Amino acid sequence: MKSRRIEPFIDEATIADTVEQLAARIAEDFAGEPLLLLCILSGSFIFTADLARALARHQIEVEVDFMKVSSYEGEESSGTVKVEFDMERSIFQRNVLIVEDIIDTGRTLEHLLRLLQTRQPRELRLCCLLDKPSRRINGLNAHYVGITIDDLFVVGYGLDYMHKLRELPHIGIMSTEE
Ligand code: 5GP
Repeated sequence: MKSRRIEPFIDEATIADTVEQLAARIAEDFAGEPLLLLCILSGSFIFTADLARALARHQIEVEVDFMKVSSYEGEESSGTVKVEFDMERSIFQRNVLIVEDIIDTGRTLEHLLRLLQTRQPRELRLCCLLDKPSRRINGLNAHYVGITIDDLFVVGYGLDYMHKLRELPHIGIMSTEE
């Protein structure tokens, strides 16, 4: 019978350092300006909480809003994003930072960025904790990337395996053993 094992991959201290470094860069770019953090549910909830508090330590005034989306390919279109749950706040003429746990193919975010641009934000940027560039199917790049990783399935710090393991304080690699 196959059993699943979680190998330690990125420890809590490294995650905390990464969040702090991201916050420092973002705070430099948005110094003196309010910023709306758009947490992409569900995987980003812990990262967003830590990033919001790190930004506050850098004197950035933040608001946090939430959105849940999934991507799908239409029969004839190149695909679009299905909004399962939309944000409450207007982003018209506002500085918005999309906060994402991990970018894989980039499909979801490509569609989401297109949708959000139609709402005419002042500035729209993307921040991800983890990036798997080898999996990308488009040219999507985040403005702020925490850690670049290989093509691995990771869990913890908000990232799930079948709705579980989000509560792990570190990030692990899921492996299957006989
Ligand atoms: P994309 O549209 O970039 O292919 O999808 C990104 C989404 O896929 C992420 O927000 C995340 O929910 C999920 N995902 C991609 N890679 C991983 C991974 O290694 N672990 C987990 N738990 N989810 C992942």
